[in-house]
Amino acid sequence: AGTLFIVATPIGNLADLSPRALETLRGVAAICAEDTRRSGQLLSHFGVNKPLLALHEHNEDALAQRLVARLAAGESLALISDAGTPLVSDPGYRLVRAARAAGVPVSPVPGACAAIAALSVAGLPSDRFVFEGFLPAKASARREHLARLAGETGTLVFYESSHRIAESLADMRAAFGDDRPAVIARELTKLFETVLDGTLAELQAKVEVDDNQRKGEFVVVVQGAGDDAEAQLAEGRRVYAMLSQHLP
Ligand code: SAM
Repeated sequence: AGTLFIVATPIGNLADLSPRALETLRGVAAICAEDTRRSGQLLSHFGVNKPLLALHEHNEDALAQRLVARLAAGESLALISDAGTPLVSDPGYRLVRAARAAGVPVSPVPGACAAIAALSVAGLPSDRFVFEGFLPAKASARREHLARLAGETGTLVFYESSHRIAESLADMRAAFGDDRPAVIARELTKLFETVLDGTLAELQAKVEVDDNQRKGEFVVVVQGAGDDAEAQLAEGRRVYAMLSQHLP
């Protein structure tokens, strides 16, 4: 059988594509990508000219069967996403599961990942962290979700987009308290890379007064609930938030 390579691509700075990633992409029969137009641009920048197959949430199961058949027949394939590491808030796990179930080797070519890059510069405890990805889009679901996380003691890592960063920070502040330390990592590895730290109250204020701080792509890293006193307070807020949904 061929090998399915899971290849990380840059999260902004093209120089972060590793030599081995490039070599792997040059060596496969075809490359699966979420957005073939965007990935086509990246690949042509590096002079990689391979057939691109669109793999996204809606066709992943069906396509996975065809791809596994090609792998089983001896072709090697690569999976990339628009940015960073595939499967991390990106499609791919169904394909990987199908390949593994068929006994096809799946091999990582690791590289950039926004969550890990943010954690590495946040200066918050990093021995235990919880990757939360994107919060629910609906305000009520988002608040409920955050309320459930209020007592979590590991550092929390969230992905966020420019149109919701202000709202999400306000909701985090309400769920975790004004004083919880946090970091906003924006546009990592790009021209306007900015890493802001402070309490959730301070960060929310900074983002609200400065339009530029709401532009681009974000990772929000929030310290976990601290000692017993803080955890109890968080638990109190969680219970209150849950109860308040059922009060008139
Ligand atoms: N698979 C990617 C990875 O390994 O990081 C994540 C894909 S997810 C669809 C896109 C989100 O990742 C963005 O909304 C943002 O939260 C985060 N992100 C991606 N690139 C970033 C960057 N350069 N700086 C900060 N956050 C980034």
